[in-house]
Amino acid sequence: MSSGSPNPGPQMPPLIPSKRPGNRTPRTTTERGYGHRHQQDRRRHLSQHPICERCSASWSQHLHHRDHNPHNRHPSNYEALCVGCHQAEHS
Ligand SMILES: [Zn+2]
Ligand SMILES: [Zn+2]
Repeated sequence: MSSGSPNPGPQMPPLIPSKRPGNRTPRTTTERGYGHRHQQDRRRHLSQHPICERCSASWSQHLHHRDHNPHNRHPSNYEALCVGCHQAEHS
């Protein structure tokens, strides 16, 4: 029993170590236009924004390009989105 503060504050999902199952795919992603550089950028941005930047209610899982240009790798062009927000953005 820990006698902490009575107010837990806003509810956030517990931070888990960067160990997402099923994230390790032997298939190359370069043929889809996403190479090793993109994977690095994705991991860095998602680690900086573990929660979706839109709804702030789900884990961010996708690295979205704000201008829809996958070749624009400027940090300001990146947005960490959850699956739902990303699908909504592209639908
Ligand atoms: Zn979202
Ligand atoms: Zn996108």
